[in-house]
Amino acid sequence: MTLRSLAQELTEPHLTMIGGRIGKAPGLLTELREAVSGSTSGDGGGSASKVGILVNASALDLLNAIEVEVRSSFADRHGQGAPTLEKCIELIGEGEHPTEWQEYFAGRFTGYRDQINGLLRPKKMRRLDGVACPSCGLSMFGEERSTCLYLDCYLNEDKELKHISEWQVHCQSCNATWVHGDMQWLLVALGQ
Ligand SMILES: [Zn+2]
Repeated sequence: MTLRSLAQELTEPHLTMIGGRIGKAPGLLTELREAVSGSTSGDGGGSASKVGILVNASALDLLNAIEVEVRSSFADRHGQGAPTLEKCIELIGEGEHPTEWQEYFAGRFTGYRDQINGLLRPKKMRRLDGVACPSCGLSMFGEERSTCLYLDCYLNEDKELKHISEWQVHCQSCNATWVHGDMQWLLVALGQ
């Protein structure tokens, strides 16, 4: 994607695939701000669920991190500030930049897009309760006793399965990842 279209995806309403159809989505930063204020449509309708509060806190952290980084790199590039985060991103997207800056901004904007999407639209994964991670040896971690291992095996929201060669297992505790071919242990564990 070009820097300009990445900037537009972050700041402006744009066309995207929603549930297999083309639809209009708000700018990603708009969605992130809505998540911070808890006004995301869909789940909860204002009820302060535990999950909702966690999402709001992570959304606020992410928004703050993006704002600090963009404002600082905008100032480095242009020698002055801009009134808002969105304005910084718009001006960067419209500007002409030397190659290093171009690549830097494109890399950061792609990162923001993926982080926002990951937070607001987490992938559906199969939770592997009671299976110990071969790397850290745990099956649960943290005060919440969260499950360590998740299997990334779904193609879409309807939980259609991906081909087994594309499955991945990820440990939330130690961050180890296994791809097809290193998963014999899992098949053994699930078969027990
Ligand atoms: Zn682990």
